[in-house]
Amino acid sequence: MKPYYDDGSIYKLRILSLGAGVQSSTILLMACKGELPKPDAAVFADTGWETNATYQHLEWLKIEAGKHGIPIIVVGLGNIREHNITGEMRGKANHGLSLPFFTDANSHGMLRRQCTYNFKIIPIKKQIRKMLGVKPRYVAPKDCVEQWIGISTDEARRIFANKRDRMSVMRFPLLEWKPMSRLDCMKWLHNNYNIIVPKSSCIGCPYHSQKEWRSLTKDEFKDACFFDEAIRRKGGVRGDLYLHRSCVPLSDVDLSTPEDRGQEVFDFMKDEKLNLFVNNISIHSQEVLPL
Ligand code: SF4
Repeated sequence: MKPYYDDGSIYKLRILSLGAGVQSSTILLMACKGELPKPDAAVFADTGWETNATYQHLEWLKIEAGKHGIPIIVVGLGNIREHNITGEMRGKANHGLSLPFFTDANSHGMLRRQCTYNFKIIPIKKQIRKMLGVKPRYVAPKDCVEQWIGISTDEARRIFANKRDRMSVMRFPLLEWKPMSRLDCMKWLHNNYNIIVPKSSCIGCPYHSQKEWRSLTKDEFKDACFFDEAIRRKGGVRGDLYLHRSCVPLSDVDLSTPEDRGQEVFDFMKDEKLNLFVNNISIHSQEVLPL
């Protein structure tokens, strides 16, 4: 793949940071459909612990994007799960690879999130430097890369968390060129590809909502429970660590819905599970209703 000179003076490579979730999948597929320019590549940073649904979706994306000449490059630091439960992590509080675990020390809180930077941002940056042909320890030209990030209008404040570096200009296609909310993206994906894209995140991400914990498969949930037990006591950190915000072992957390508990739930509340009812999409019938 050849980088290109965008305006004759600035050396640019256009890269999509692909999380394989709703927003970045929308950007990639919009580029396939010609609704956005084509990036030179989409780079997926694999933590090694995504759900099976995300890996399946990624494989499908590779085929679909490949048909339109957009390569998907998978990079990674290794397996985030293994890093956190084997000797590499345990006993070293500031190893820099930690998830934002909940701690029951003091009045409960969260450890600093280090995983995104180390498992996602850095591997993507390294890949970009490789594609540019920048040798180790050499400085890449200023603003030589246009890096696309999938942030939708409903989460626009997240752009402040994306610190730019010297070589990259951050662009947000779903804010700048095709303003779309997450729901708009879901609707677009359904209307154009008839797919419901799974949320992408690590199986044991402490940011999971109750719904996200419930959406794991039985084996994935079992794996998360095992991991939760394994990280309970980490050297150099006060208090016990947990994946669930309640600071209760994950296997003991009550994840039942009101319906499971025998409370009356109306049909529209069931549909709300996927937030698709406002989108005129029924998850029961799997039909797109006329707008
Ligand atoms: S999904 Fe959660 S655990 Fe995985 S890298 Fe992101 S913040 Fe960390």
